[in-house]
Amino acid sequence: MPSHPDSDTTFWSSLEKRVHAEWLAITFLTVLTTLLVGLYSEQTGIARLDDTFYDGVLRAWPNDPGDNDIVIIAIDDGSIDALGRWPWHRSVHAELLGRLSEARRVGFDIVFSEPNPDNPEGDHAFAQAVTQHGRVVLPTFIMHQPGAPQGLHMPLPVLANAAAGLGYINIYPDSDGTVRSLTLQRTLSDNRSVQHFVVAMHGQSEKSIRPDDSLRIPFRAPAGHFPFYSYASVLRGDVPSDHFRDRLVLVGAWSSGLGDTYPTPMTTDGQTMSGVEIMANGMLALKHDTWIRTLPAWASALLNALPVLLTCLAVRRFSPRHSFLATLSIISLWALLAVVLLISTHVWLPVTSGLIGIALAFPLWSWRSQEASLQHIDRELQHLRRAIPGNAGVIGDAMPITVDRSLPARVRLLHQAIARFRHAQQKREETLRFLSHDARAPQNAILALIEMQRREPESRDTQALLSRIEQRAADTLALMDGFVQLERAECLPLNKRLLDLGGLLQEACDAGWEVSRRRSISVMPNVPSEPAWVEGDHQLLGRALRNLLDNAVKYSPEHTTVHCRLARKGATWEIAIQDQGPGIPEHQLGRIFEPFARVTAEMPAETSGAGLGLAFVRITIERHGGTITASSIQGRGSTFTIALPAMEA
Ligand code: ADP
Repeated sequence: MPSHPDSDTTFWSSLEKRVHAEWLAITFLTVLTTLLVGLYSEQTGIARLDDTFYDGVLRAWPNDPGDNDIVIIAIDDGSIDALGRWPWHRSVHAELLGRLSEARRVGFDIVFSEPNPDNPEGDHAFAQAVTQHGRVVLPTFIMHQPGAPQGLHMPLPVLANAAAGLGYINIYPDSDGTVRSLTLQRTLSDNRSVQHFVVAMHGQSEKSIRPDDSLRIPFRAPAGHFPFYSYASVLRGDVPSDHFRDRLVLVGAWSSGLGDTYPTPMTTDGQTMSGVEIMANGMLALKHDTWIRTLPAWASALLNALPVLLTCLAVRRFSPRHSFLATLSIISLWALLAVVLLISTHVWLPVTSGLIGIALAFPLWSWRSQEASLQHIDRELQHLRRAIPGNAGVIGDAMPITVDRSLPARVRLLHQAIARFRHAQQKREETLRFLSHDARAPQNAILALIEMQRREPESRDTQALLSRIEQRAADTLALMDGFVQLERAECLPLNKRLLDLGGLLQEACDAGWEVSRRRSISVMPNVPSEPAWVEGDHQLLGRALRNLLDNAVKYSPEHTTVHCRLARKGATWEIAIQDQGPGIPEHQLGRIFEPFARVTAEMPAETSGAGLGLAFVRITIERHGGTITASSIQGRGSTFTIALPAMEA
């Protein structure tokens, strides 16, 4: 595109500045969105997406073979059938403890906060059995009543005193109802610090546990993977007591009727896991210290901003295709990093805020960079429109300020602009060629004639010399005239109105009458009686017809006839101008409509010309939406046919 290098530099640098500003804005916006979404993931509901991803990873993580150290004795439907309706007399639990004498610790996930008025002896017997066993952990329960201070429900004092350890059995599901974590130590509203049941079962106080720190349970298998015995079968003595030797035994509800069950990451389709098994999972995590720790919200928000920044850098540098691929890769790698961190270091990094930021960056950048570039293209097009206002006839109508602001529409305009430039360049070359060669030739000839005359004044006939100079000067004028006419035909707007083509043809014939008469050539117009309406520029079309008739007369031998026929052909009016001249060689027919094209075959005398007449005719007819064709039989004549769209009056 030929434009001044300085304006090119200004264009690119202003575009570059604008694009850079857009990029900065997008980077700022996406990073800010990521930070806010990361910090307020609970409030924005994004935490749900993170949890879904987390649950999926846990489920996909290969199951752990488990740990035989922890055993569950389940109060299941079979036990209820065998031992009667719940609650049982506590002497039954005392009896069970007798069978578990070799266990390292026995924990009851059953609340004993009320005395049993029907069977006080049972309570007593149980308290005795607990004391005797010496390693029994009993549950407490934190009461949360709105408006009231947190209360701790203790077991009956006799039982509490007898127990080796106490711990609260509260399990707090997440907002979606799924249990993912346990809080191992809590500070009550009276500042008392209490420990969780699983810590009490563990036996030693955990130093690494921070108060009110919620730790994610590393569930590694679906429900039912701990060694499990039915309460009734243990009570009956079906399981030898040495089976429990040195093991941690958890006694808790398993029955569908007792209701102590929760969904966990490992349960799907509305299934649940019993509270006692969740405790067992917690105990296992505590034993091996495999808790999954969640990064603080601020840390994960900051970490999530990193891949978003990286994506912004990538889209700024890469092509759209590579940016898209880079975005996909960063999304996949970021999600993969979360999985790898979780599996290898037991650290949970919620990545959804980062994924949202990354996914936002690409479309935002595509939109803004495209918009910025297109607006610049628009501006450039406006400049072009002002710089080259004409040329409408050659490359379609002047560039419209389109309402279609789509990319293809803008590219089409750009193409038109480029076509205009190419055309302007071509015209410039033509003009240079014209000035440096065609326009100079007759002038040089005149100068040469004058010079010869000066050297040998006697040897030449002055009259002959003058007429030759006159001829050359006339050639120059004709050439200039033809050139200017051609430029006008190309550039000037058409002054269109309804014309009768028959009348126009008649006018052209009349204008050439004198010349044709001189050479005894009869011009025979054949025009229909009805008017032949077309829409066009009277001056340009009239001149085009005159050019064709002039050529026909100019290239015809004397005493011949030129036929001009006007007839309706479908939706067009057609004029055929047929002469009996020498014709045009077949291989030359294709180029006679180009500027400066002159056929080199033998021509009658006095057929000087610049080769611009037919170029003028073609441009004029094409700008009127018509066509021009030439056919010829060498030695017998040529026919030039123009067709113009017919109009109704
Ligand atoms: P010119 O000024 O040379 O006539 P034109 O553009 O009108 O330029 O024509 C281009 C060339 O086409 C002419 O030089 C001539 O060789 C050929 N030509 C045009 N009209 C006729 C015709 N009626 N018969 C034969 N040759 C023609």
